[in-house]
Amino acid sequence: MANLNITQDFIPQGRRNRPGRNNPMQWITVHETGNTSRGAGARNHARFVKGDDAARIPVSWHYTVDDTETFQHLPENETAFHAGDGPNGIGNSQSIGIEIAVNSDGNFERAVGRAIALVADICRRRNIPLVNVVQHNHFSPGNKNCPQNIRAGRPFSWAEFIRRVGRLLEGGTQSNPPAPSGGGITYTVRRGDTLSGIARSHGIALAALVAANPQISNPDLIIPGHVIVVPWVGAPTQSIDEIAREVILGRWGDGAERVRRLTAAGHNASVVQRRVNEILAGR
Ligand SMILES: [Zn+2]
Repeated sequence: MANLNITQDFIPQGRRNRPGRNNPMQWITVHETGNTSRGAGARNHARFVKGDDAARIPVSWHYTVDDTETFQHLPENETAFHAGDGPNGIGNSQSIGIEIAVNSDGNFERAVGRAIALVADICRRRNIPLVNVVQHNHFSPGNKNCPQNIRAGRPFSWAEFIRRVGRLLEGGTQSNPPAPSGGGITYTVRRGDTLSGIARSHGIALAALVAANPQISNPDLIIPGHVIVVPWVGAPTQSIDEIAREVILGRWGDGAERVRRLTAAGHNASVVQRRVNEILAGR
């Protein structure tokens, strides 16, 4: 795990933006500060959130991450005001809020990478499932374009953000994604979950999720408490040619098993098979 370099600099007790209510820590809400001013990193936001303007609004959150530092503004087990869904909204009352700095003199991609490490650390410590790591927009749909850059694919998509958190949880590293033939994380089904919802939250196709869980006989019937596999999908680390050669070498099994594994790893099995046939035909 990366050195998170966290400085605790809490909003004083009794301030209007430190309500002190118990936070059950079921979710993580990811934001961007939206402040591109030079110097508007974690340290400056720590000063802001302790000040009168933030108390008056009131606004508060738990962490600000920039490209070198992380400041913690509140204990994780206290509620804050960052999700825009009211004092009793799930975002404000049940989530840990993380702001990623977008200051123009910082390295945003590095800040996002440090936020990913922090999110993974919190998920592990608080036993928060990956599916409950969400954008601010999740709690303020339709009116909040936050985290703005990530939502626009900068420096990469939200699905990739979640995948990288997952890789850290799995014990891998961001620079060494697991082999596409294997891997994934386990996810414990909660009441109200659907397979399509779980797939969407993890940024993968429903077909890939179904393929990775052959033990599920009826995809419309998943049972709270059951553990399913959420496969790694999408990181285009191997070309069709490379996959096809692996298939020929027998690394992906045969028949239906091969199709299942290829699909679970995010490949189009029929496209791969076509390339296999071409290679075997000498093309
Ligand atoms: Zn936000």
